[in-house]
Amino acid sequence: MSRGKFTVAGGGPVGALLAILLGRHGYEVGLYEGRPDSRKTSIYQGRSINIALSDRGWHSLEQIGIGADAKSEAIPMFHRAIHGIDGELSALPYGKEWNAIWSVSRSGINQQLLDIADQEAGIETHFEHWLMDVDFETARTVFQVNREHEVTVDADYLFAADGANSKVRRLAHNLPRFSYSQTYMPQSYIELHIPANADGSHKIEKNALHIWPRKDFMLIALPNTDGTFTCTLFLNHSGEPSFESLQERAAVEAFFESNFADAMDYLENPVDTFMEKTASPLFLVQVFPWSFNRKVGLIGDAAHAIVPFYGQGMNCGFEDCAELNRLIETHDHDWDAIFPAYENARKPNGDAIAELSKRNFVEMSDLSGDRRFQIRKMIEAKFSARYPGLWTPLYSMVTFSPEVPYAEALRVGDEQNRVMEKIMGLPGIENDWDKQYVMDQLHALAKASFGERQ
Ligand SMILES: Cc1cc2nc3c(=O)[nH]c(=O)nc-3n(C[C@H](O)[C@H](O)[C@H](O)COP(=O)(O)OP(=O)(O)OC[C@H]3O[C@@H](n4cnc5c(N)ncnc54)[C@H](O)[C@@H]3O)c2cc1C
Repeated sequence: MSRGKFTVAGGGPVGALLAILLGRHGYEVGLYEGRPDSRKTSIYQGRSINIALSDRGWHSLEQIGIGADAKSEAIPMFHRAIHGIDGELSALPYGKEWNAIWSVSRSGINQQLLDIADQEAGIETHFEHWLMDVDFETARTVFQVNREHEVTVDADYLFAADGANSKVRRLAHNLPRFSYSQTYMPQSYIELHIPANADGSHKIEKNALHIWPRKDFMLIALPNTDGTFTCTLFLNHSGEPSFESLQERAAVEAFFESNFADAMDYLENPVDTFMEKTASPLFLVQVFPWSFNRKVGLIGDAAHAIVPFYGQGMNCGFEDCAELNRLIETHDHDWDAIFPAYENARKPNGDAIAELSKRNFVEMSDLSGDRRFQIRKMIEAKFSARYPGLWTPLYSMVTFSPEVPYAEALRVGDEQNRVMEKIMGLPGIENDWDKQYVMDQLHALAKASFGERQ
């Protein structure tokens, strides 16, 4: 017997995962996606767009009983491969030698989750259904079908998983006491492409996330299973250089040649692509509440659109689902208790990863090409290996420690940052970083600052 009826608006990765977990808890679920079914049409065919999934995402998938299948299609990236402006290549590990983040196809994981949803009793998937309106008192929704006619759908509850431009969230603007902020980043982005070798192998190191850090802008590349790489160029929207300032072909050619000379051997028509494509903006959205009348909830990017510099947007959305899964059990299906518990648990973490992601642009685009930054990372890695109870580097907390909430990672990371500023201020640190006295000083400072508490 059904425990109740849910509408889930948005059949992206988070909506599909949410539908599965609700279905497995015995709910009747209608999953409504605006676009055509990507498994049957060509909307995703052609080049893959990939994202990095980290332990947080995998852990959340595993808690809901999914993960192994998706991981079989993923490529582990064990370090950052930093491409200097002079073409010099250096490797910067992510954490311990076995720590990896995983390159997955965004459409691939979405399709895998939709396949699982289709096999679950109690879940009905509907495509080409665009949500147009919501009654926030009753969870009644109106969808436009095939751009032709409208249907009204009644359910006990609605979850909006309709992404960064969420229609449900925009409709919620008319509700009393709804707080909303949207902030544009200076950067926009375009995707570029590195094709495979003729034998299907990768042209550059496969098991790495490649970064060409150039301070105010950067190029990154993530591997795909077909031997290609998906690259993303993050560059300011305006100013010098920017998408706005680089209009003439000769200027674009000079920009690529002077900044990404080694990548020019591999990139497929980067100048043509740059000239043809319109750059996409990057923005973050913060709202509260995430639920309305114990009837309607926001989840995934609809609740927290963040910028991609920590590679955590989807990880965070999957973690939202895992938290809901836990709360359904804790509160025994009492949605009057689950909705407030869910938003109170997740909102501080959504805000924390938004802040961390904003800050990480500087780390990726500037600092990862800087010798002092690399020394700092090596000191932290060495110290953390020696005193794991005293110190976990911020990146490892965010990426490899699902048991540490994002908000806690932000707080502890700030404390550790203050200590590391003192260590990096030691005279001669650039030559002495590997010496025992540095470890001793760091130990004394760390113990004095926060003791054995992690
Ligand atoms: C350049 C870039 C790089 C990124 N890299 C990473 C990364 O490395 N790691 C990571 O974890 N995250 C990354 N992200 C973030 C990640 O892509 C998102 O966090 C994730 O896709 C969010 O999933 P979602 O299901 O909430 O939303 P979406 O993936 O946006 O899915 C929303 C779905 O809702 C549908 N929809 C929208 N409106 C309606 C409507 N009115 N009615 C019905 N359906 C509707 C859409 O068609 C879509 O299918 C990146 C994002 C960008 C832009």
